[in-house]
Amino acid sequence: MSRGCVWGEICYYIYNLCKFHDNNNMDSQKIKIDPEKCIGCGSCAAIADQTFEMGDDDKVHVIDPPGDDEATIKSAADCCAMQAIELGE
Ligand code: SF4
Repeated sequence: MSRGCVWGEICYYIYNLCKFHDNNNMDSQKIKIDPEKCIGCGSCAAIADQTFEMGDDDKVHVIDPPGDDEATIKSAADCCAMQAIELGE
């Protein structure tokens, strides 16, 4: 979970609005998960385990956007066959 954020796992839905997520070290890169596309395979969480975590709902969740370095997070997003991970600027 990001520093100071009280919304926990649901914060990724409102990521652009969360003041606690504005100061991460990912060069303002934003991570969005489309829960409709995610089939819960766990591949992204295996690659970037400091950023993604599988939830009890069998969907991946962003637990800490700056948890892994940018290249690792990009690799995790690229591995998603469902293209459920969107990395914005
Ligand atoms: S790789 Fe894609 S489908 Fe698999 S858990 Fe991650 S977001 Fe979901």
